[in-house]
Amino acid sequence: MDLLTVETFARPTDSDGLRALQPTLGSDRTLLGGGTWLFSVPQPHLRGVVDLTSLPWEPVSADDTGLTIAATTTLATLAAVEPSSFPSWPGVALFAGCCEALVGSRKIWNVATVGGNVCLALPAAPMVTLAAALDGVATLWSADGRERREPVADLVVGVQRTSLAPDDVLRSVHLPAAALRGRTALRKASLSPLGRSAVLLAGRRDDDGRLTLAVTAALPRPAVLRYDVLPDEAALAADVAALGETVGGGWYDDPHGSPEWRRAMTLLLAEEIRRELGGAR
Ligand SMILES: Cc1cc2nc3c(=O)[nH]c(=O)nc-3n(C[C@H](O)[C@H](O)[C@H](O)COP(=O)(O)OP(=O)(O)OC[C@H]3O[C@@H](n4cnc5c(N)ncnc54)[C@H](O)[C@@H]3O)c2cc1C
Repeated sequence: MDLLTVETFARPTDSDGLRALQPTLGSDRTLLGGGTWLFSVPQPHLRGVVDLTSLPWEPVSADDTGLTIAATTTLATLAAVEPSSFPSWPGVALFAGCCEALVGSRKIWNVATVGGNVCLALPAAPMVTLAAALDGVATLWSADGRERREPVADLVVGVQRTSLAPDDVLRSVHLPAAALRGRTALRKASLSPLGRSAVLLAGRRDDDGRLTLAVTAALPRPAVLRYDVLPDEAALAADVAALGETVGGGWYDDPHGSPEWRRAMTLLLAEEIRRELGGAR
C-alpha cells in the first residue's frame, strides 16, 4: 500500500551516507529493508523512510571465522547459497530450509531481507531461527557511531520487540565456523500446508556431541536449549515443556495456532530432531 504520510525518502549509497542519516531515525522516520512488511500495514506515524536497498554490502562473505550475512541480503540470495560451496560447513544446509519456512511468492523472497526479518521480530521469523540455531551474532550500529555485537537469540525480546533503539541499524549477522561445522535439522508445523509457521525448530549437533535446539514461532521470543551430550527423550521433553513457564508469555497464542497445540507440536518435533541428530555422522 502507499504510505501517504511519508514526505522524505533517503537512499544512502554507502555506509558513511547511512551513518550520517542515522541520527534522523526515530519514531517518525524509519529504515526500509525490502518493505514487504513496511508497505503491508498502515504507518500513519511515518514521515520519512531511509531505504537500505541501494547499499553495496556484500550479501554473504566467508572467512576463517565463519560466514557474515549482510542485513540487506534478500531471502532469495540466501536460499541460493549452495551448501556444496562450503563442504566443511554442513550448517549452510539450514539456509534454504529456513527461507522456505517463510511461505511467500518469489516477489516476496526477492525483496524481503534478513535484516528486516530479524528486526520485525515476529515469532515466526525464520532468520531468527537460523541465527539462533547457528549461534548467530548481530552487528549493530548505534547512531552515536558505536558498534556492538549481540546474539540474535537475545536481540529479540518479544513479539515485534527487539533490543534495538529506533535509530539503531542491524548491519549483519555473523555465523561462527564452529557452529557451521555442525549437522542440522529443521522442523516446521503450520495449521495449513502453506500456512505461517506456528512452530519452527532448528537443531544442531556439533562434532563433539553437543546439541543446540532453537525453539521459535511457538513462543513469543526465541528460546535456545543447549546440551553437552545428547539428552534422553524424557530430559528433552521436560526442558521443552518447561519453556511454557520460563519464557515470558508462555506458549504463543494467535490465529496460526493455539498454545496447547503449539506445545504438543513442539514436543513432537523436538523429539524428531533429537532422533535425527542422534545418529552417527
Ligand atoms: C506472504 C507473506 C508471508 C510472510 N511470512 C512471514 C513469516 O512466515 N515469518 C515472518 O517473520 N514474516 C513473514 N512475513 C512478513 C515480512 O514480509 C518478513 O518478515 C520479511 O522478512 C520482512 O523483511 P523486509 O526486508 O521486507 O522488512 P521491511 O518491511 O523493510 O522492515 C521490517 C522492519 O524492520 C526494520 N528494518 C529493516 N531492516 C533493518 C535494519 N537493517 N536494521 C534495523 N531495522 C531494520 C524496518 O524499519 C521495519 O520496522 C510475510 C509477509 C508476506 C507478505
